[in-house]
Amino acid sequence: MSDVLKYDENCLFCKIIRGDIPSAKVYEDDLCYAFRDINPQAPTHILVVPKVHMRSVAEVNRHNEALVGHIFTVIAKIAAAEGLEGGYRVISNCGPDACQSVPHLHFHILGGTKLGERMG
Ligand code: 5GP
Ligand code: ZN
Repeated sequence: MSDVLKYDENCLFCKIIRGDIPSAKVYEDDLCYAFRDINPQAPTHILVVPKVHMRSVAEVNRHNEALVGHIFTVIAKIAAAEGLEGGYRVISNCGPDACQSVPHLHFHILGGTKLGERMG
């Protein structure tokens, strides 16, 4: 399947990746795109998304696992570039029980302050 077919015309993050909806870009390469969350929940709140449309972590499999590994390499680079020496949290909400609101796989990077101990 070509990447063109993996674009979902109804998907907010697909539109952001294409530039159809503006975003504050932090990083981009052939495989992924990172931008600042519009409603930040920490001083640094960045979203990292694969450029191909996939709904969530539930769609990660042996065919696309290298892409997710690449995204984590990018996450570490972004965290260093953002100066998050004190640490940071990476979250991916998956499905309704996790309150996933945008059905395009994304990883939140949260940092720049001491985060709360509770995660759920
Ligand atoms: P979720 O709840 O699915 O884990 O996270 C979706 C995130 O996308 C939320 O933190 C929300 O603030 C962010 N978001 C929703 N719409 C937009 C938008 O148009 N632009 C940006 N930059 N972030 C958005
Ligand atoms: Zn999408």
